[in-house]
Amino acid sequence: MKTIGLIGGMSWESSAEYYRIVNEEVQRRLGGLHSAKCILFSVDFEEIEQLQRRGDWAEAGRLLVEAAKALEKSGAELIVLCTNTMHIVFEALEKGVEVPLVHIADATTREIRKASLAAIGLLGTKYTMEMDFYKSRLTNKGLNVLIPDETERNQLNRIIFEELCLGEIRKPSKEYYQMVIDKLIKQGAEGIILGCTEIGLLIRQEDSPVPIFDTTEIHAKTAVRMALG
Ligand code: GLU
Repeated sequence: MKTIGLIGGMSWESSAEYYRIVNEEVQRRLGGLHSAKCILFSVDFEEIEQLQRRGDWAEAGRLLVEAAKALEKSGAELIVLCTNTMHIVFEALEKGVEVPLVHIADATTREIRKASLAAIGLLGTKYTMEMDFYKSRLTNKGLNVLIPDETERNQLNRIIFEELCLGEIRKPSKEYYQMVIDKLIKQGAEGIILGCTEIGLLIRQEDSPVPIFDTTEIHAKTAVRMALG
């Protein structure tokens, strides 16, 4: 079994999910008392969030490359960046270390294609929904990506940063996400990507009439598959 390096803390609420899922998945696949070999480098999210707000992706990338290098030095044999948004700096990370990285959007695209879906709704931070770094990985594989309108994007983003990243799970926010999901389905979405690692804390498969692709779960399980070879 390879050692998985997790770059987490963005937010730690979802890093805890990654830790749970990699361990459950190794146990499920290997049985007995098996658990995941992993190392977590958890950043201070306040620092990263301020850099996001300023659009200083270069400095944010530098901090995350440092984290990746530290994981590699400590024995990580593959690296998982536990946030969709910060995949903005994925290329810098790839250049910064020798060990392979698992891209969260690529892992998710594979699952969507397995389900033979063509049109998919994307929920996430405003960076993930609006910028091209994420959507282009999906459209390059032939998927049609639908995103919510501007007012909805701002509200979804607010719920992520002001509630979910602080561990607050609120019913009105869940209902808001469900309303947006229903609208995307009416526009043609055949499935919904939970493209932010905290959304799975709020929305589950039973909350949606179409298949849900939870990036946290998909990413963590893909890492385990790679670690077990
Ligand atoms: N965890 C979130 C994501 O998957 C948002 C936090 C961040 O901006 O990194 O995008």
